[in-house]
Amino acid sequence: QTNVARILLDSARDFPNKEAIDFLGKSYTYKELLRLCFKMANALRAIGIAKGDRLAIMLPNCPQAVIAYYAGLMAGAIVVQTNPIYTERELHFQLADCGAATLITLDLLLPRVLKAREGTAIRQIIVTSLSDGLPFPKNALYPIKRRKEYPELKVKYKASDGVLRWSSVLRRGQETPICEEVDAETELAMIQYTGGTTGRPKGVMLTHANLLANTLQLSNWCYRLEQGKESYLAALPLFHVFGLTVLMNQAVYKAGTLLLIPRFDPKLVLETIRRRRPTIFPGAPTMYIALLNHPSAQKDDLRSVKICVSGAAPLPREVQEKFEQLSGGRLIEGYGLTETSPVSHCNPIWGFRKSGTVGIPLPDTDVRIVGEESLDPLPIGEIGEIAIRGPQVMAGYWDRPEESAAVLRDGWLRTGDLGTMDEDGYFTIIDRKKDLILAGGYNVYPREVEEVLFEHPAIKEASVMGVPDPYRGETVKAFIVLKEGWQVSEMQLDRWCRDRLAAYKVPKHYEFRNELPLSLIGKVLRRKLKEELEEKVE
Ligand code: ATP
Repeated sequence: QTNVARILLDSARDFPNKEAIDFLGKSYTYKELLRLCFKMANALRAIGIAKGDRLAIMLPNCPQAVIAYYAGLMAGAIVVQTNPIYTERELHFQLADCGAATLITLDLLLPRVLKAREGTAIRQIIVTSLSDGLPFPKNALYPIKRRKEYPELKVKYKASDGVLRWSSVLRRGQETPICEEVDAETELAMIQYTGGTTGRPKGVMLTHANLLANTLQLSNWCYRLEQGKESYLAALPLFHVFGLTVLMNQAVYKAGTLLLIPRFDPKLVLETIRRRRPTIFPGAPTMYIALLNHPSAQKDDLRSVKICVSGAAPLPREVQEKFEQLSGGRLIEGYGLTETSPVSHCNPIWGFRKSGTVGIPLPDTDVRIVGEESLDPLPIGEIGEIAIRGPQVMAGYWDRPEESAAVLRDGWLRTGDLGTMDEDGYFTIIDRKKDLILAGGYNVYPREVEEVLFEHPAIKEASVMGVPDPYRGETVKAFIVLKEGWQVSEMQLDRWCRDRLAAYKVPKHYEFRNELPLSLIGKVLRRKLKEELEEKVE
């Protein structure tokens, strides 16, 4: 019967005066955070949100993002997180797909939101500002990389647009405690859209029990930390399921402090480490790489950081070792997907870890390597699809019964990822099934080729994919970004790969780029690269 927002009520009861949030110097205690959540939850009810209604939230990491999330759950809404850098088209798709009638966002994003909502069910838009009650200049921090994409906006709207100011909505809300009773096993807490790395994002239905289970699995098995003691560097976006569970729910459950960073910026992260000495820093590999490459990282003292959990994409061994040397803490790799709330595997923080693997399944989680046809486990060491069964496995995809049925059977989720399990039960991710290249009858795993390219001293980033080939069906193409000041020819790269890979795996085509399209969490968006290639052919 537990609403996942109860973790906040419990921490505020036991640690009322503990700092819950630090946002660039402004802080909120658990008592204050809970009071604001109650007010917002009551206000949401007052403006018409009823149990089961979808509530869309489109905010970068800021106190309002935390308040909106827990308040939405307390009001009984199903929270739908939206990426603040989504284009009008992407946003329109998601809003129309989930059928939300209310959206909470930033004033800066309003012009885009007003266009995107045409033809959707959105009736009310609650706007807040990053500077709402905060001690820095208005618009000083954008959740986005390039300021010029978001020129100074005089946000104009008509009364009929249904736009409400955050502060006035909050003022209307009473402080009376509110936390909607739910059937945790069946009622949804969130519809969380997948990253869309491989195709159109799908709305993953996560129940209250899914999110609670994953929070408890991580807390009790992985982290094993004392309550009220830790501070979490919150650089991962909280609107992504990784940041949501591994950071926000985790920190709140343990009555820790969330040090919110509005967008990943190595300088800001290093400043926050210096100022607040965080102990826990979950991140994506690109974040650790960016910090290692930052000139001041070597001089800075990162030694307060004792635990880092990396996920979302493969963690290069070299990065793991270097970051551990720099911080003196443990950097471990885990694995999961939106469909598993998201964590299914992790290397033990305190026990035996195997670098290069994603560790072992979390408690209560069954994992098998299976073939195309059945869910019977394949022999140890053989490559197959990873299938997962456990309390964190989603209820299905929103409004897509066929796609749900294709991946869920007898409680097992087919992940679409290829992997192996060794004799100790540690799993290695090989690649996504969809990305597998079939070159003249041979299987080529893009990740293996990328790793070889990544080892080349001139290469900063590499992404490999299959492209149509009249003779082989598919052949290997590599997109390359070089490090500044470096030059390398296709012929040199060809020689490099031929020395390290079987001939059928060696890229036949290279394309040099200044940058690769990345998701906010730092994964190369192969889908975008593929679309660009297809457009060129047309
Ligand atoms: P979509 O499903 O829409 O294409 P997405 O796969 O990026 O988007 P997410 O749920 O954010 O959606 O990502 C999950 C995927 O990330 C996993 O299926 C896996 O391919 C990859 N992944 C996660 N952790 C790791 C890891 N440690 N090593 C390698 N890959 C990982």
